[in-house]
Amino acid sequence: MKVLELHPEPACTVDGWTRRACEVRRVDGNTPQSSHSLWFDVPPEAPAWDDADAEPYLIACLMLAMHEGRSLRVRGRVSRTLLENLEEYAAFWVTTAPARYQRVTVEVDEVSPHTGAPAPSAELARPAAIAAFSGGLDASFLVWRHHTGMAGLRSRQIRAAVMIAGFDIPCDSRVHFDASFAVAHGTLQSLGLVLYPLRTNLRQVIKVPWEQVHGTSLAACLQFYKAIAPTALLGSCEPYNHLVTPWGSSPVIDHLLSSASLRIVHDGAEYSRSDKARLLATWPFGANRIRVCWSDTHPGTNCQACEKCLRTMANFAVHGLPIPASLGGNVERLNRLIGTVRLRSTAQAAEWRALRLIRQPGARDRWQRWITPILWRCQLRAVFHARLRPWLRQLAGRAPAR
Ligand SMILES: [Zn+2]
Repeated sequence: MKVLELHPEPACTVDGWTRRACEVRRVDGNTPQSSHSLWFDVPPEAPAWDDADAEPYLIACLMLAMHEGRSLRVRGRVSRTLLENLEEYAAFWVTTAPARYQRVTVEVDEVSPHTGAPAPSAELARPAAIAAFSGGLDASFLVWRHHTGMAGLRSRQIRAAVMIAGFDIPCDSRVHFDASFAVAHGTLQSLGLVLYPLRTNLRQVIKVPWEQVHGTSLAACLQFYKAIAPTALLGSCEPYNHLVTPWGSSPVIDHLLSSASLRIVHDGAEYSRSDKARLLATWPFGANRIRVCWSDTHPGTNCQACEKCLRTMANFAVHGLPIPASLGGNVERLNRLIGTVRLRSTAQAAEWRALRLIRQPGARDRWQRWITPILWRCQLRAVFHARLRPWLRQLAGRAPAR
C-alpha cells in the first residue's frame, strides 16, 4: 500500500520567522521512500497556533496524494467538516481529470466534532473575514468591493489580508517579496487594513500543476490566520459565464476547502476581469498600484511586456479608462506590443475571448484588431500539439535508418 504520511511538528524560529511545519513522508508498504519538510513561515506577531492542528497540511497535500495514488495518513487533528468537504472536493477532480487524479482514503489520528461552517453573526452588519492579497487586479478589486459595501449582504469587514512568498514570487526571493509587500502594505493601509506576510516552500514539495493546486495552496496558507476571523475570501479568477473546468480555484469547488474553524468563500465570480478593472478605476490610488506580473525583472511592480501585463492594460483600455501607472499609464505600449502576445493556457484564451466581446462605439484600437489573430495562433498551436506533432513523430519513427 502506498501512503503519504503527514506529521505536524512543533513550531520553531527560522531567520526571525515562526515556522509551522509538517513532515511529509512517502511510505510503500513498510518501507519509507522519501521525507520532506513542508513549511509555512509567519511573523512572530501572527496569531497563536495549535501544533496538533493538521488542517492546513491536509489541504495542501490532498492533490499530491491523489496525483500519486497514495492514501493519506494524518498524525494530527482535523475537523469532521473538512473531511466531509474534501471527499466531495476529491470527487470533483476524479470526475473532471481522471487521467491525473485518483480517489484516495484519508485516515486521521484525531477528528474534531462536526460543528458545521461558522455562521456569520446576525448582529454584525459586516461579519469579519480575512483575505488573500497578492496586489493584483482580482485581490485589489476584492478589498475595494468589501470596503465600499459593493457586495451587498455578502460584504465583509476584512480584518487582515495575507501576502504569500512562494507562489508567484519565489520563497527565497527576499528583494522581490519585500518590494511587493511594501507596495501592497501602502495600498491596504489607505483603507485601514492590516497586511501579514507568509512564506512557504509549498511549491517545492507539492509537485502538481500549479493551475490545479493554487486553490488548495491558498486555503492552506490562510488557515494559519483563522484565529483572526472565521471566514476567508479568495478572489475569483474566471466569471460564472466563462468558467474553465477543471481549474484550481472556482466557485464550484473553493467552498469545499472549508473546515469547522475556517469557511472559504470564493468571491466575485459575477464579474469578469474587465468588469473588475472598470469598478477598481473608481479607486485610482488602488488601481495605480496593482502588481499583476509574474516576471522577476521589476520587483514590486510590472514588466509591462508579458501577456498578463498586456492583458490587464487591455482590461482597462477596453472601457476607455486610463492605464494604471504601475502598468505604464499609456495605451501606446499595449498597441506596440500586442503582436508579441502568446497564449499558454485555456484560461488565458478565455480572457482574450471575453475582451473581444466588449464593443465600444467608434473605431477599434490597434490592440483590439489583434485579438482575433492571437486567438487563431493559439488554436493552430493546440491543433499542432494534439494532432500533427504525434503524427510527425510516428512518421519519423517509421523512416528507414540512413
Ligand atoms: Zn509582466
